[in-house]
Amino acid sequence: MNLIVLWLLVTPLFFAFGWIAGRIDMKTVVKDAKRLPKRLYDSIDSLIEHKTGIACDNIRDVIEQEPQLTELQLSLGKLYRNRGENDLAIKLHNKLLNSQFIFSNDERDLIRLELARDFQNAGLIDRSESLLLKLLDSELYSNRAQELLLDIYQQDKNWLYAIETAKKLSNSNYNFHTELAQFNCELAQEALIKSDNDSVIKYITQALEINRKCVRANMLLGELFFNQEQYEKAIATWQLIEKQNYLYLPKVVDKIFDAYTRLNKIKEGLTLIKGYTKLYPKLNLCDFLYSKLSTYDNLDSALEYLRDTIRNQPTSKVASLMIDSYISRADLSPEIRPDAELIKNILSKYHEQLANYRCGRCNFKSKTFFWQCPACYEWESINPNYVE
Ligand SMILES: [Zn+2]
Repeated sequence: MNLIVLWLLVTPLFFAFGWIAGRIDMKTVVKDAKRLPKRLYDSIDSLIEHKTGIACDNIRDVIEQEPQLTELQLSLGKLYRNRGENDLAIKLHNKLLNSQFIFSNDERDLIRLELARDFQNAGLIDRSESLLLKLLDSELYSNRAQELLLDIYQQDKNWLYAIETAKKLSNSNYNFHTELAQFNCELAQEALIKSDNDSVIKYITQALEINRKCVRANMLLGELFFNQEQYEKAIATWQLIEKQNYLYLPKVVDKIFDAYTRLNKIKEGLTLIKGYTKLYPKLNLCDFLYSKLSTYDNLDSALEYLRDTIRNQPTSKVASLMIDSYISRADLSPEIRPDAELIKNILSKYHEQLANYRCGRCNFKSKTFFWQCPACYEWESINPNYVE
C-alpha cells in the first residue's frame, strides 16, 4: 500500500521536473536569442548592402561586448582579408591565439590556418608556409593546409614541391593530372632555357605519362628538336597537337612553318597549314596565313583564302586584311586608295580593341596568352585562340 502511495507521489513529480526543465531550456533559448546584440543584425544588413566597412565596425563592437564568440571573430578575420586589410586580420588571429580562452586542438588549428591565409594574402609567404607545414599533422585541417601550400609553391614557382604536394592531394575525386603535367612542363621550360636537354626530355616524358593530352609537352619537345636542327622531328611532334587539342594549333603554326622553311619546303608548309584552316575553319590563323600566302604564293591565292575565311569568321580582322589585299594590288584606283587605307586602319584598331585571350572559367581577358589564368589560377582555362 505504502509503495502505491509512493509511486502516486513520485510519478507527478517526475512530470513536474520534466516540465520545469523544458521551461528553463525554452527560456534560456529565448533569452539567448534576445541577447544577440542589435549591432550583429546591423552588420548583416551592411553586408547585404555591400557596405563591408560598416559591417566590420559593427562586428568589432559586438566582439568587444562578447569576446567569447570565437566564430564571429573568425568571420571578422575573413572580412578583413576580403577587404585587403591583412594587417588587421593578422592582429586579430594572433590575439585570438594568445587569448585566455581555452581552445581545443582543432579550434587552435583552425585559427592557425586562418593566420596562414592572412600571411599568404599579405605576401608573407615564408611565415605562411612555416605555419602550414606545422598543420600537416592536423586531424581536420591537414588537407586544407596542403591545398594552401600547393598555391604557395605555384606562386613561388617551386615546381618540385608543387609536384610532391599535388601527388599527396590527389585522390579518386580529383587526380591533378592537368596540374602535374603543367608543373613538369614548367620544369622542362626552365631546362630548355638552360639547354639542359636531358632534363627537358625527362620532364616532358613525365608530363606525357601523367597526361597524354598535354599539348604544352609536345610544344616544348618540338622546340627541343628544332633547337637541335632536327626539323623533320620537330614538325612531326608539333603535328601531334592536332590530335591532342586542335585549338592549340594557332600556337604552333608559325613554328611549323619556320621548320619547313629551314628544310626549304615552304610549299609543303603552306599546304599543311591551309589544310588546318579547311578542317578547323574557326581557328584564328588568318593573319599568319594571309601574310605567308602573300609573300610565298601570290596575292590572288591570299585574297581567295580571305574570301573563304570571312564566311566562317566575319571579323574586323579578316575584313581589314581583305582591304589590305586590295590595296596591295597595282590596279587599285589611286582615288580609292586613301579611303581604303583609312577603312583598313579603323578596322585594325577595332580588332585590337576587341580581340583577347579569354579564360573559360572566370572570363579574364588578356592580350597575352597564359597557361595558368592569372585571375583564377586555373591551368589550361584560357582559350588559345585570340578572338574578337
Ligand atoms: Zn580564369
